[in-house]
Amino acid sequence: GKQQGKNTYRFYTTDMESDITNNIRLKMELRNALEKNQFFIHYQPKVSLESEQIEGVEALLRWEHEELGLVSPNEFIPVIEETGMIHAIGEWILKTVCTQHKVWRDQGYPTLKVAVNLSPIQLKDPDIIEKITDILQETNMEPEWLEFEITETSLIENKKEATKILKKLRKMGIRIAIDDFGTGYSSLHLLKRLPVDILKIDRAFIQDNDDHAILESILEMAKKLQLTVVAEGVETKEQLDYLKDQYCQEAQGFFISHPLSKEKLESFVNAQLSR
Ligand code: C2E
Ligand code: CA
Ligand code: CA
Ligand code: CA
Repeated sequence: GKQQGKNTYRFYTTDMESDITNNIRLKMELRNALEKNQFFIHYQPKVSLESEQIEGVEALLRWEHEELGLVSPNEFIPVIEETGMIHAIGEWILKTVCTQHKVWRDQGYPTLKVAVNLSPIQLKDPDIIEKITDILQETNMEPEWLEFEITETSLIENKKEATKILKKLRKMGIRIAIDDFGTGYSSLHLLKRLPVDILKIDRAFIQDNDDHAILESILEMAKKLQLTVVAEGVETKEQLDYLKDQYCQEAQGFFISHPLSKEKLESFVNAQLSR
């Protein structure tokens, strides 16, 4: 059956198959994964550190193949990027998430912000703005609840083009987050000119006690630039308490919740409501 929210992907190799063989197999199996309904979305809660209430979720793509089992996105996303399949799959992700958001709104759940990861390859699509606009319209998605996450490195490598697209998305009312922040050496100077609203600090800085100096300077810088800060990869109460002391606004990580199926997310929200 489906995964129960834990990040325990099955290995898809039984023995010493080479990476190249794996890659070819993955490429083949991914080709009709969309038509075979092998993709689904998990939602990982993000909480406000002030209220400890869920404020939003990050949508994370899952691929379950009948023989390979659940394959890690770190394995298959590079393949769908390389083959260009990310364009069609990326549209499917956004459509699925926006459709689900509308269902939750209609069912009277407290409205949550929802963050969708955008691949650097999608940012290079000249029709990306039109595609996103169409999906929002088609699904009745209110853009103020939507966030896109873009990794710091992809932003830096493709600064000019990415900046143009992000500006347009912001104009539509969508918020932009820099993902894995701290791993790509952005300067304060660069950050000031990028059209972003949120910094998601990479879990390396949350989990390593020796990196607290870096973490604190990121928080200080974010405050000056009036950016919202989300701490990723919070796995312990100590980390959560520390972040609270530092006036970090939001947190996400296994200590709060693993990524959840939509049904499990509904239970999570219901449990918080009845507290
Ligand atoms: P990411 O965007 O940085 O997503 C966060 C990853 O960290 C997720 O892994 C999540 O399960 C994991 N995580 C969350 N909390 C913790 C924690 O406390 N400790 C640890 N060790 N890990 C935690 P996941 O789902 O395996 O995704 C891996 C990467 O694959 C993502 O990193 C993202 O770069 C990519 N990805 C996933 N879904 C999508 C998608 O829909 N579109 C695109 N373009 N990329 C995606
Ligand atoms: Ca992300
Ligand atoms: Ca991240
Ligand atoms: Ca990452």
